[in-house]
Amino acid sequence: MRQDLSIQSSDDLSLKVKEYLEKVSVDEPLSADQQNIVRQQIKQLLIDKNAVIVAHYYTDPLIQALAEETGGVVADSLEMARFGSRHDADTLIVVGVKFMGETAKILTPNKTVLMPTLEATCSLDVGCPADEFNAFCDQHPDRTVVVYANTSAQVKARADWVVTSSIAVDVVDHLDSLGEKILWAPDKYLGSYVQKQTGADVLMWDGSCIVHEEFKAKGITDLQKVYPESAVLVHPESPQSVVEVADVVGSTSQLIAAAKDLPNKQLIVATDQGIFYKMQQAVPEKELIIAPTGGSGATCRSCANCPWMGMNSLQNLLSCLQDGSGEIHVDSDVANLATTALDRMMSFKANS
Ligand code: SF4
Repeated sequence: MRQDLSIQSSDDLSLKVKEYLEKVSVDEPLSADQQNIVRQQIKQLLIDKNAVIVAHYYTDPLIQALAEETGGVVADSLEMARFGSRHDADTLIVVGVKFMGETAKILTPNKTVLMPTLEATCSLDVGCPADEFNAFCDQHPDRTVVVYANTSAQVKARADWVVTSSIAVDVVDHLDSLGEKILWAPDKYLGSYVQKQTGADVLMWDGSCIVHEEFKAKGITDLQKVYPESAVLVHPESPQSVVEVADVVGSTSQLIAAAKDLPNKQLIVATDQGIFYKMQQAVPEKELIIAPTGGSGATCRSCANCPWMGMNSLQNLLSCLQDGSGEIHVDSDVANLATTALDRMMSFKANS
């Protein structure tokens, strides 16, 4: 395994993320009465416009609950894409971060895809600009390009494969069995985890998730002393030292499944706290404990809470339904190229 650190240093990424977050605003919380009014307005507009909410596990629990009540879905990015492409609604309201809206549009070009805010991106996307990524790929034409779903449509267009965290190990294992060498982007921690699981030859981009990067192994092992019967659940976007103290490593959906399967009554969870809404539904009798982080850093508004997922609110969800704002458009040439890489993932999932 090799890493090319000359393309994008962690300091560059932190600075970019900090500058970006300083420019954007987040809606003030609503009172309970205001929430009820807005929720009713959204429900009516979803009916009027034949629209459905497709929300990620990391979004505000108020939005997740509304998605469930109105026939939408709360899921990981792979299931969001599958749900949106199969649903007969004319309009998909994708509540998450921008790459999720782009993926929905690429897979369902005949539907209108709206997002409550187009400002919500992801440190992995920000840290992997298409022009620099293309130059990186040009330097390594002998490698199969595998990119994580948390990338722009332009980066996906350059890829041979797109993967989510739930399927990354299986896809890279498959490619390794065919003797292929991998160029992986953008998350170095997930890439490192995949490389260790598969033994594949992986050359990595130097990107990271600012939320998962802040979990600390020492804090988790200290917490285990307080809860000695607990199990530790970790998302593989976390640093290797954190992965090493995990009882289970997996994508959001896999962690929820593990919460059900494990006998432990207390679970220490190292991923965005938004997941607690669905995880607690799955295991109402268990105690969920957020894993400790390094504290509020310069790039983190609230640790274990993705700042971009937090830009989605009931207010801007209502606005996009009212005025059609936040529509996602993807250039058709880019979409055609990205579709090939996305279709490979969807077919692989269907056949596995
Ligand atoms: S939690 Fe991390 S990977 Fe997920 S959208 Fe936020 S910054 Fe990106």
